[in-house]
Amino acid sequence: MTPPTSEPAWAAGAACRGLDSAIFYPATDEEAEPAKAVCGVCPVQETCLEHAIENREHNGVWGGATERERQRIIRRRRRQRSLARSAAAS
Ligand code: SF4
Repeated sequence: MTPPTSEPAWAAGAACRGLDSAIFYPATDEEAEPAKAVCGVCPVQETCLEHAIENREHNGVWGGATERERQRIIRRRRRQRSLARSAAAS
């Protein structure tokens, strides 16, 4: 990803700075490996992923995750919260 124009402070340490942003917007998840390789060595990976989840970024690879993978993370967290609420109520 290319850090957003109103760049958050954490983006200053991004491993993708200066790289061709096109690799972070692959046509398919299978083509996301080059971007994921960069994210894999990025010092702000977790922050980037949380930023994308919180801001509902719908396109591109953020924090090493494609949109589909971020959706899975969101669904898993919802299930975990739901289970935790159920456990607390019983
Ligand atoms: S995790 Fe990936 S997309 Fe996010 S800042 Fe780092 S290199 Fe860029």
